[in-house]
Amino acid sequence: MSKKRRGKCLCGTVRFSVSVPDPTFSICHCDYCRRWCGGPLMSVHCPGDATFDDDASLRWYRSSDWAERGFCGTCGSSLFWRLADDPGAMLIVAVDAFEDAGDISLHRHIYVDKKPGRYDFSDRQPRITEAELMAELGITGEGE
Ligand SMILES: [Zn+2]
Ligand SMILES: [Zn+2]
Repeated sequence: MSKKRRGKCLCGTVRFSVSVPDPTFSICHCDYCRRWCGGPLMSVHCPGDATFDDDASLRWYRSSDWAERGFCGTCGSSLFWRLADDPGAMLIVAVDAFEDAGDISLHRHIYVDKKPGRYDFSDRQPRITEAELMAELGITGEGE
C-alpha cells in the first residue's frame, strides 16, 4: 500500500504530500547533487507528483538537459528532482524533507564512480556507477 507522507522545507513555506510506495532512499554522489546540496543527496523515489498546501516559494532550476531541481526560494532547502520533459511522471524527494522519515531505510548508493575520496559510508548496501544506473533506466545523455 502506498502511504502518503507529508514534508516541508526548513522555513515551512513549502508544504507537500506525496505517495511513497517504497520507503527506501538512495544516496547520490554525482557532481550535480553534491554541488546542489553541499554533499551527497539522500532521496526517495516517488512514482507520482506531489500535492502542495503551499508552493508559492517553490522554485525550479533546470540543472541539465533532462532534469530540474526544486528548492525553496525563501530558505534554500534542496527538496525535489524531476524529469524536465515529464514533470508529473515521478518525483525524487530529499529524505529529510519528510516530517517523519524514521522508517525510511537505505536502499543503495548511486554514481559511486563520481564520489570524491574524502568521505566514505560504512553501510554494506549496493553501490552502482553512473553507467550502471543509466543502463538500468534506459537513459542516454549528459547530466543529472
Ligand atoms: Zn523554505
Ligand atoms: Zn545526483
